[in-house]
Amino acid sequence: MITHLPQESVLERFKRYVRIDTRSDEDSETVPSTAKQLDLLRLLHRELLALHIEDASIDDKGYVYGTVPSNLAAEETPKVPVIGFIAHADTAPGVTGTNVKPIVHRNYRGGDIVLPGDPTQVIRTAEYPNLVNRYLGMDIVTSDGTTLLGADDKAGVAEIMTAVDILNQNPQLRHGTLKIAFNPDEEIGRGAQHFDIVKFGARFAYTFDGGPLGEIEYETFNAFSAEITIKGVGVHPGYAKDKLVNAIRVAADFVQRLPKELSPETTEGREGYIHPYVINGQGEMVKMRMLLRDFEMDGIEKQRGLLEGIVRELQSVHAKAGFELQLKEYYRNMRYKIEQEPRLIAYAEEAIRRIGVEPHHELVRGGTDGSRLSYMGLPCPNLFAGGEAFHSTREWVPVQVMEKAAECAVHLAQIWAERSLAR
Ligand SMILES: [Zn+2]
Repeated sequence: MITHLPQESVLERFKRYVRIDTRSDEDSETVPSTAKQLDLLRLLHRELLALHIEDASIDDKGYVYGTVPSNLAAEETPKVPVIGFIAHADTAPGVTGTNVKPIVHRNYRGGDIVLPGDPTQVIRTAEYPNLVNRYLGMDIVTSDGTTLLGADDKAGVAEIMTAVDILNQNPQLRHGTLKIAFNPDEEIGRGAQHFDIVKFGARFAYTFDGGPLGEIEYETFNAFSAEITIKGVGVHPGYAKDKLVNAIRVAADFVQRLPKELSPETTEGREGYIHPYVINGQGEMVKMRMLLRDFEMDGIEKQRGLLEGIVRELQSVHAKAGFELQLKEYYRNMRYKIEQEPRLIAYAEEAIRRIGVEPHHELVRGGTDGSRLSYMGLPCPNLFAGGEAFHSTREWVPVQVMEKAAECAVHLAQIWAERSLAR
């Protein structure tokens, strides 16, 4: 049982972190992509040291690592796998994160929340039903409506810090070796790129970067792209009868043949899609790029078959046209890696039940840093951090959900110890 409060509340930490601008920049070549992310990452390094994480370090790319030593008996410690907790310090490039003014709406009583800095920004319960269905009476944190809040993922950062603080205050809670990491540049898809999993030293990890209370995510799309090159035959158009092949018309024909029910605008949940998103060219040559997404590799293979079928059909209609089709892999569904270690999800579910909440699995119709880390050798599901309306000025997070997330991390650490020692 947690008998002692943390030295500092998760809300106080959260407010301090969101006031620091850490917006990342996809057009930058540097690591981290923006130097200002270091303002927060260096602070987190100092705060870990202050929480007695003696090996806390920050590398030249801004990655912060640290170890919470095991408090088990010397012969017990090796029997408990080292687990890690990870959160990202940057915020989304699309919305300003300068001069964030967090506002705490105490004891939420229902109704839409109008943000005072820009009253056109309204958090509507119709859009976010959790507010009234689950969070009545809680304290809801928002920005003033002129910036994002940064709950994605400073809620996760504050929760992990608070979990470390709780463990410090409650030495009776038995746990194995825990690893902590905070990274830059998740929002531009580079958070895993320079993540040193050897230095980190955990066998499994959890990112605290998900949404509503009780959520677990360990399924992402399989993500491929198809590049299609169509070569036409150029002839003076005045004398082109039966000779000219216009690659633009062939490309239009190609897109026309893609099944409409297999597009992002017509699919949801577990359904995959094909999404043409780049087209470049002239009458003589057109290049198109398409996203292929499906939760199953079978689905990706079917999509490949479908594109190959269209190429064959078009080849028979336009005999003189040339076609090339190339698939490229971006990432795979992390479920394939997570399922190899059933304890990862079972213990997370148990930790969520111990905070009095029924766990809920959510599909990610995209990828996460966790999916990349999972394929780099660090299986890494994503747990709720509490926020909603990410990447917008209407972002919000309940204080009490952040507190629950911190407790969930503490339970998770205990469960890994309990169960591993009982085996
Ligand atoms: Zn995030």
